[in-house]
Amino acid sequence: MVEIYFKILGSSSSGNAAVLRTGESTILIDAGLSCKKLHFLLKQEGIEIEELDAVFLTHEHNDHSAGIRGLSKYGHLPIYANQDTVQAIQAKLPRRPNWKIFETGSPFSFRSFKIHPFSVPHDAYDPVGFYFEWGKEDLFDPPSSLAWVTDLGYVPALVKERIRQAKILVVEANHCSKMLEDDNKRPWSLKQRIRGRHGHLSNQSTFELLESIENNCWEKIFLMHLSKDCNDVNVVRDRFSSLTGQGERFSTYVVDPSTAETIGV
Ligand SMILES: [Zn+2]
Ligand SMILES: [Zn+2]
Repeated sequence: MVEIYFKILGSSSSGNAAVLRTGESTILIDAGLSCKKLHFLLKQEGIEIEELDAVFLTHEHNDHSAGIRGLSKYGHLPIYANQDTVQAIQAKLPRRPNWKIFETGSPFSFRSFKIHPFSVPHDAYDPVGFYFEWGKEDLFDPPSSLAWVTDLGYVPALVKERIRQAKILVVEANHCSKMLEDDNKRPWSLKQRIRGRHGHLSNQSTFELLESIENNCWEKIFLMHLSKDCNDVNVVRDRFSSLTGQGERFSTYVVDPSTAETIGV
């Protein structure tokens, strides 16, 4: 049996990144932690940075790309992103990493993975979510899939379909609308951006979204990218405990942004 190993190494404004290991490859999804931190967290999982086969980036925001500066030292390591994302990140780098450019909306292969990058509405140059498929119709290597959907203001129909199909679903539950409203650190304009059509999903929007998706394929759901100030792990746990199918057909995990605690399958 091919062991699937998936861990979220960091979440939210302190940096988003996850590692996915299948029988053949070890990949990083987003690299929003410093290379030093990635090194440390991967090592705790028994993985050396040198063992990474590729990195896949959703968009240029620092909380998804801060590690690229350090990772660019590993000259052979392929870093997949679309052209606009590459341009925005490269402008801040001293070296050129081994960029591999994909086109948003066009699926491509990497080793045993088929990867579908799809457009998401967010205030970045060309932000994407990813749908990874791997495995075969084989008892020892069964087909599996993971959707990585963070940083989006609303959910277009195509994204909804990717969310439905995923066995492992990673989706953001960014803020509690009430806590965001009451927050006194953020100016009104920033609050409007977070709530806007190119901002982030609130707990309630994500809850309603998941409740509305019939015939879903979920086995595990990870709720991540929780705002440190405007959300709370327990509020999210409470909200999603009544999700239809929770605990029966699938399990839900809430990723605590305040600890570098890693959770995974
Ligand atoms: Zn972002
Ligand atoms: Zn982000």
